[in-house]
Amino acid sequence: MRRSFRLSAAILLAAAAVTIVVRLPPQHVPWGVADLNADVGLFSSLKLARLRSDAPACRSALRMAQVQFRTLPDDIANPQCAQENMVVLERSSYAYAPGVRANCGLAAALSVWERKVVLPAARQFLASDTESIRHLGVYACRAVRGSHLRQSQHANAAAIDIQSFRLRDGRVIDVQGNWGKDTAAGHFLRAVHDGACGVFRTVLGPDYNAAHANHLHLDIGPFSICR
Ligand SMILES: [Zn+2]
Repeated sequence: MRRSFRLSAAILLAAAAVTIVVRLPPQHVPWGVADLNADVGLFSSLKLARLRSDAPACRSALRMAQVQFRTLPDDIANPQCAQENMVVLERSSYAYAPGVRANCGLAAALSVWERKVVLPAARQFLASDTESIRHLGVYACRAVRGSHLRQSQHANAAAIDIQSFRLRDGRVIDVQGNWGKDTAAGHFLRAVHDGACGVFRTVLGPDYNAAHANHLHLDIGPFSICR
């Protein structure tokens, strides 16, 4: 009797789990390849990070999102700072200054962030659109600052430091001058930071420490951190 009760309970639980999963909107499903056109969901950052080591899936995702890019050969001369699955972003939603040479997974995450986070935030808070994004760098063969043991995501071109946004109307919104302010520009920066946390694995801004006072660090590494 007790055994059949347990069995029924297990079947009911399994049925409930299947029902929940089947009814999940597609952007919240944890498996499958990241769709760069889908809305940001519960597992977007994990799915985008998986593209880091899956070159065919990543390139196909970029093509389906109509991101123009070139592929670069792997550079594994220095295994500590290997650059694999690399692309050059030629045309995404926005231009980057300087241009972006990055791991394909980072390029894919940037493309999602531009369209699903930066564009709506610019329209909401600044009544304009972004024209270009200035950054402080992608690749740097180094450890995490303050740690001699752990390699930075920059060491594999899987991180980017965003410095400022140039708008169509000519305004420039830089992190250093506008972060934390109760202004339209301040609210825009907060929105692109917070929205990045659903797209990238680690997002660090000026509130994290003084080393990040002038940029937003975005990466597709293993750790989920939003500070
Ligand atoms: Zn960084």
